[in-house]
Amino acid sequence: MLFRPTLAGSLPKPSWLAETGKLWPKWTQSGAELDQAKRDAALIWIKLQEDAGVEILTDGEQFRTHFVHGFLETVGGIDWDLKTKMGIRNNRYVVDVPTVTGVPKRSRPVHRDEAAFCRAHTKKGLKFTLPGPMTICDTLADGHFGKRADMAMAFAEILNEEAHELQAAGVDTIQFDEPAFNVFTDDVKEWGIAALERAARGLTCTTAVHICYGYGIDANMKWKETLGAEWRQYEEIFPPLNASSIKQVSLECAGSHVPISLISLLPDKDLLVGVIDVATNNIETPEQVVGTIAEALKYADAERIYPCTNCGMAPLSRAVAEAKLTALGAGAALARERFS
Ligand code: ZN
Repeated sequence: MLFRPTLAGSLPKPSWLAETGKLWPKWTQSGAELDQAKRDAALIWIKLQEDAGVEILTDGEQFRTHFVHGFLETVGGIDWDLKTKMGIRNNRYVVDVPTVTGVPKRSRPVHRDEAAFCRAHTKKGLKFTLPGPMTICDTLADGHFGKRADMAMAFAEILNEEAHELQAAGVDTIQFDEPAFNVFTDDVKEWGIAALERAARGLTCTTAVHICYGYGIDANMKWKETLGAEWRQYEEIFPPLNASSIKQVSLECAGSHVPISLISLLPDKDLLVGVIDVATNNIETPEQVVGTIAEALKYADAERIYPCTNCGMAPLSRAVAEAKLTALGAGAALARERFS
């Protein structure tokens, strides 16, 4: 099937699971009720994604609060009480982040059982997302390594252990989220891609990397205003990414200042083309989705194009996220009719 829709990853959490409308929410349940609520929320989103025509779906990240810290909660070597103020994404916003005080160690699988649960409840393609090593390093303070490249490689090793378990649980695609790639483009070439490949080492399932301009939050909107008329960060990192072993690249296209012609720098990769803008509550029409796909078709064959969201939809309202999923599926179906 051409134009198989997928999404970047996250979806909003219901209020009976977590605080809504926040990027760093608190759970509203605890203990066994919390575990049940996470599973129930994931089930709802699996059903809604299937109904919308999404072909490669996710758990909507219902099992963790924040996409980086949620994964790291049970990982050793991090002091969660030792908070350091850090300007993350190159000082785009200041957050109190936990501090790395030793070599990170995974004491137990983080998402394996949750992935197996999702696998048992859908026959569609299943994608699981993990934070990429560079983005982890940009969301934790380093009190141990001294060099970000060394810290990234250490986290890449535990990500790799986790990824192999997710693959064994039946996950079809493992995606590493690397929004930091758009910020530290020199580091990407020096060690970022090497760390990413270390995280994906030995995987036989589909591997993907998601690189975006962030959620539609105020700090990101202000940052985007400083990036000029054309956003060309991808231009620097796509050539080395094309030479990497990662199979798919998820990128932002809809309503953005990224020249879509930059996808021609990824001739050997599958492209998760962002056709849904997550920084606005306006719902795309299927025609608009087809329009973005048509632009991408000028630079890439249909076989390599997977319509996707620009980024996660966690901060959006449930109604908006649902409507955007429907637009994604309907737009992909229309593109299939028109371009097959
Ligand atoms: Zn993103």
